[in-house]
Amino acid sequence: MKNRIKNSCINEFDPSALDENTALTNILKNIKPVKGFEMVSIKKALGRITASNIKSKINLPSFKNSAMDGYAINIDNLKKNNYILYEKATTLAGMSSVSNLKNGETIRVMTGAIIPENCNAVIMKEMVEKSDSKIIFGKKIINNQNIRDIGEDVKKSSIVIEKGIKLNYIHLGLLSSLGISSIRVYKKPTISFFSTGNELVSVNKILKKGMIYDSNRYILHGLLSKLPIIIKDMGVVKDREDLIIKKLLQCSKISDVIITTGGVSVGDADYIKSALRKVGKIKFWKISIKPGRPLAYGKINKTDFFGLPGNPVSTAVTFQLFVEAAINKLINNFHNEKFIIKGVAGEKLTKKKGRTEYKRAIFNEDKGTFYVKSSGLQGSNILTSLAKANCYIRLSAKIDNVEKGDIVDIIPFNHN
Ligand code: AMP
Ligand code: MG
Repeated sequence: MKNRIKNSCINEFDPSALDENTALTNILKNIKPVKGFEMVSIKKALGRITASNIKSKINLPSFKNSAMDGYAINIDNLKKNNYILYEKATTLAGMSSVSNLKNGETIRVMTGAIIPENCNAVIMKEMVEKSDSKIIFGKKIINNQNIRDIGEDVKKSSIVIEKGIKLNYIHLGLLSSLGISSIRVYKKPTISFFSTGNELVSVNKILKKGMIYDSNRYILHGLLSKLPIIIKDMGVVKDREDLIIKKLLQCSKISDVIITTGGVSVGDADYIKSALRKVGKIKFWKISIKPGRPLAYGKINKTDFFGLPGNPVSTAVTFQLFVEAAINKLINNFHNEKFIIKGVAGEKLTKKKGRTEYKRAIFNEDKGTFYVKSSGLQGSNILTSLAKANCYIRLSAKIDNVEKGDIVDIIPFNHN
């Protein structure tokens, strides 16, 4: 006993807590990706996950066309004509004329206009001297210059977007450029969430002494709204085991995942774990990270359950580290690596060994080096420092204090 007390003063090691990677692996092993799919129009497909490889039915471009406003020529005819050609016609983008070039002729073409089959260069308008209906130009011409070739962007029958990709606005542009108006995406799973706590009131109510406004439901609403899922805000539940059980059962009937916040630690009013044990299974509930040590993961029938800690910063961090990864697997989004960069600590950072710490911080770049500093107070109730931050500094469980000038891991993010 003596030893344990002494230990807890010099480090934060808790033998019953899982390390971050083991916890994540454990969670991901349990998550089953959604199988069902549906056809949606491409406008509705933004942020959805492709459920099959998308192939193009056409070449892009589908016809040879000009990359410049200029003159279509055939280099092979030039020498005989002494680099002077007769301007036979003009083709604008959208016109369908495709007559071939004859000896001594050129066709004035605008960007995107069809060019003759036997044309093998376009000379920019700016490089040409015009005299009546003749053009005169320099001899430096490269084969196929300023010509967009058939299929140079996309070949007919090739895969343009693979299965398991989260569609962004560039994808929408690409799909429409291929004439694809609807695509097959995975169905949205349903995720419900609620806050627990006797002290919580909603934003439009009067704040009595000892009460606080519920901020976690808004953070979760924001985090979840970015994902292709159906979200159900199930409100606030008081710290009573019977009420929590009732709500959990209600949610499990309609949800693939349930997320709660608060009541998951060892306090006198913490009922999440006991409620979960009665209606489902707890897989684990402690992870050696800061903020966010108490995080319960379990199952209620087939529904995955995440009990996040009540402090708002812990809610956000544990969501980003564990719940987001789980949801990404659930929705079949497998291409979403987070990147980590190395930076120089701009100040001393205090820490005890035994837990991985995520410090809210601001990084910036100066002459090719990243520098990073804390964005404010680091208590897990302090949302202002998270609002100001553009990254976390991740400090491994193995290390203690970081000195100014030490190299640290930076995980950039934006809250948009
Ligand atoms: P708990 O995990 O329930 O022990 O809560 C830890 C701390 O987070 C306490 O100070 C709670 O008042 C606070 N807290 C819990 N839930 C919320 C919430 N939804 N919004 C803001 N703070 C909360
Ligand atoms: Mg509580």
